[in-house]
Amino acid sequence: MSSDSTHSAARFPSEVYASRLSRAAEYAREAGLAALLITPGPDLQYLVGSRASSFERLICLVVPADGETPTVVVPRLELAALTDSAVAELGLQITDWVDGVSPYDLVAEALHPGAATAVDDAMPALHFVPLAAAVGRVPVLATDVLRRLRMIKDDAEIDALRRAGQAIDRVHARMGEFLKVGRTEADVATDIGAAIVDEGHTGAEFIIVGSGPHGADPHHEVSDRVIEAGDVVVIDIGGPVAPGYNSDSTRTYVLGEPTPEIASQYAVLERAQQAAVDAVRPGVTAQSIDAAARDILAAEGLGEAFLHRTGHGIGLSVHEEPYIVSGNDIELTEGMAFSVEPGIYFRGEWGARIEDIVVVTADGCESVNLRPHGLTVLPVD
Ligand code: ZN
Ligand code: ZN
Ligand code: ZN
Repeated sequence: MSSDSTHSAARFPSEVYASRLSRAAEYAREAGLAALLITPGPDLQYLVGSRASSFERLICLVVPADGETPTVVVPRLELAALTDSAVAELGLQITDWVDGVSPYDLVAEALHPGAATAVDDAMPALHFVPLAAAVGRVPVLATDVLRRLRMIKDDAEIDALRRAGQAIDRVHARMGEFLKVGRTEADVATDIGAAIVDEGHTGAEFIIVGSGPHGADPHHEVSDRVIEAGDVVVIDIGGPVAPGYNSDSTRTYVLGEPTPEIASQYAVLERAQQAAVDAVRPGVTAQSIDAAARDILAAEGLGEAFLHRTGHGIGLSVHEEPYIVSGNDIELTEGMAFSVEPGIYFRGEWGARIEDIVVVTADGCESVNLRPHGLTVLPVD
């Protein structure tokens, strides 16, 4: 398949990043911070579109809270790593350094002495400790500031999540090609991995093929177990599409007709998943969505079979805020994106899960995954 070039670009237009940087500065100011210090990872990718990796040589974006031009401190030999980012187009200050110079001092020089700074929560300790010493004050975590930004998806991000959803839907649509009696879970996963790339992802991030009793373990990945007639199989798959937004979708299959008991328990799960999706709208809490699914399962005696939270936010990271879990009273807001993925698990027997990614709209939600929810029956011969 192919998608048009603007859609498959490695990053968004630079205006998108300019807007994010100015909001990051504004939120940092509101949090009483002087600057944000961001090293490679999803936060750097979010703010400037850079997919650089973190090594022993420091790359650090300094975002001053007063709205002055951000600085990127970067090793001269890693300058090329920034060429795919928006750093040059945005006119950010680039401070390159060579071995023998302390990059931590360069960061400190971009700040007032003893400034209150916050760092991304993935900054390696290798950099955090000398940075704190150079700045003269221990930084706090920028988690809250970045969460506030990243949790609410803009139009470009929602479009990317839709493309990711469509790509993984196409993989599920082809499951009959891969999932067959006599093959191992690992064989099936190899084919799924290739299909994930064929259908437009830049790679496969995770592939769960939980057949028969393995389906009862939500953390199972793949094994050499051979698929048998009658198996219920949980397939939970996803990966990033350019410029880095992830898909994550689960469907449950059965090889041959399901037993009446499996069919009726699965029907309850399908109702629970739909009830949770139907409950999504601005102003309700994350935990109310969890309860919407859980209450239906509990009413049918399946409360104990639902072992995990109902969902997680998704974007540049597969798991991020907001978490759809009991105890999380954060209110949903238009633009939040998260999974709705209740499951039922019967140890030693079988399991099932249905997972869609939804985006909160003005009056409800839009699902980016559109495959049918029912137990998909695949032929046994
Ligand atoms: Zn998920
Ligand atoms: Zn999943
Ligand atoms: Zn349905």
